[in-house]
Amino acid sequence: MSAEIIDGRAVAAKVREEVLDRVAALAARGVTPGLAMVLVGNHPPSEIYVRLKAKDCEQVGIASNVLRLPADAAEEEVLSLIDRLNADPRVHGILVQMPLPNHLDPKPIVDRVHPYKDVDGLHPTNVGWLQAGHPALLACTPQGVMRLLREYEVPTLGSHAVVLGRSAIVGRPMSWLMLRAHATVTTCHRHTADPGRLAREADILISAVGIAGLVKGDWIKPGAVVIDVGITRLPDGRVVGDVDFEPARERARLITPVPGGVGPMTRAMLLTNTCLAAERMLQRTLMP
Ligand code: NAD
Repeated sequence: MSAEIIDGRAVAAKVREEVLDRVAALAARGVTPGLAMVLVGNHPPSEIYVRLKAKDCEQVGIASNVLRLPADAAEEEVLSLIDRLNADPRVHGILVQMPLPNHLDPKPIVDRVHPYKDVDGLHPTNVGWLQAGHPALLACTPQGVMRLLREYEVPTLGSHAVVLGRSAIVGRPMSWLMLRAHATVTTCHRHTADPGRLAREADILISAVGIAGLVKGDWIKPGAVVIDVGITRLPDGRVVGDVDFEPARERARLITPVPGGVGPMTRAMLLTNTCLAAERMLQRTLMP
């Protein structure tokens, strides 16, 4: 069997179409959704990511703004910039581009973003709301994975999902979303004794580790759905995921490629989150 390839670019294009409609509906009520991106220092990949996100916003009519601080900015400077953005009614979403320079602890900075504007879904309030089953702003990548599963009609109820990785931005919210979708969830991390053994039991295997070739073909249960979140740039310039793609494809039923799988969805879900934050802000303003 050779798996069907999940086309993340096509699904992301569909999401952007939906965002266009939502932006138009907001415009009709006098609101332009606004995204503020805070960039501390000049980490070259971050520069690229921010530029791509700004371009995505422009294409759908979201007003984006990059706020730059020098690499040696003090925590207080970052916090006071976030305070200013929290108070600005034109800003509906705030994203602090990671990684921050080493001298800055990301925790107080992430915690300072108002939960209603936290389009990365990292604030403890949003994490708590996700776990409590309240409407939260959800981390973009796991939300994008859920949308791919929905688009390809992958049943989650009663399935066994194995998530490799437990970071705050991908692995943990991914596991919570799968649990919320009624899967039985196993979360693996760097201290898991034998992730391959667990992976072989997965109906849905989601890898978010960042080690090229970690997931071998024989880790895939025949007929499984394989979602590769990992991104590694090899010395020869190629970008690959965590999954050893060709052998995995021979066993899986559905599989995401890298690039062109989860990556485009992460970018699209940031647009969705910014719209959602703007819609909710409008609703709150209209409340008596
Ligand atoms: P991270 O380094 O914060 O987390 C990696 C996780 O993998 C950790 O929880 C660690 O415990 C776990 N891990 C390490 N070795 C392991 C092993 N052998 N088996 C199982 N788990 C193991 O990274 P992150 O920010 O969560 O990102 C993970 C990967 O996903 C990276 O390659 C990153 O570039 C990529 N990423 C892709 C997208 C996208 O849109 N496609 C978005 C975010 C991150």
